[in-house]
Amino acid sequence: MADAVPEAIHTDGDHFPLKEKRGEILARKIEEQIMRAGWPVGEVLGSEADLLQEYKVSRAVLREAVRIMEHHGTARTRRGPGGGLVVTKPDARAVVRSAAVYLDSEGITPDKLAAARTGVELIAVQLAAQNIDEDGITRLRAALDRERASVAGGESVTSGRNDVHTVIAALSGNPAIQLFTETLTLLEVEVFRSVSEPKTASDARAQFLDDHIGIVEAVVSGDASVARFRMQQHLARVAAEIHPH
Ligand SMILES: [Zn+2]
Repeated sequence: MADAVPEAIHTDGDHFPLKEKRGEILARKIEEQIMRAGWPVGEVLGSEADLLQEYKVSRAVLREAVRIMEHHGTARTRRGPGGGLVVTKPDARAVVRSAAVYLDSEGITPDKLAAARTGVELIAVQLAAQNIDEDGITRLRAALDRERASVAGGESVTSGRNDVHTVIAALSGNPAIQLFTETLTLLEVEVFRSVSEPKTASDARAQFLDDHIGIVEAVVSGDASVARFRMQQHLARVAAEIHPH
């Protein structure tokens, strides 16, 4: 299935042990094979003995590669008969979490966050309105019901999981847009939590619910341009709340 990992590999210096570097290269190689194979979740790639034979690496390097793939959520070791290294489906939540943490470490400003979010969510809401069907309508109404219950229960804006935005992103039918939306909304909820007073958060929550109702109405009626307009207004309000002028 594969070429052996080359024996001689340059390291980035003494602080980067050779075993880890080679483990990383092997992990990337196996992940590329999984991608080319069309992501066969559940398929056994081989036992440890098979993989050692196939890739001609030491046990330490293979174990390091497996550890990396388990961390990426791309494969895991299954014990017992018929076991071995098994292809798994990566967990979107882990990817969203590390992307949000990364953007935060880059010091992304509220303005840049709002600009990126607007770009992504306007496309998401447009596609959702264009693709809307009965199942989508049910999911949107359920998200609004959860939000109404949460507002009525006095929960703050930061306790919400941005259900409506998440559902709209899912209804776009585009997993890249869904991933970016979830990453940016997660980051924004955390920024909001760090800047807003509880009182402000509760007033804003009622306004945001009204906004969401208007956006959902437009999506449900399949009106992409009204949906875009309302989403833009809503995101401007969210940005103003986070970054008061
Ligand atoms: Zn919102």
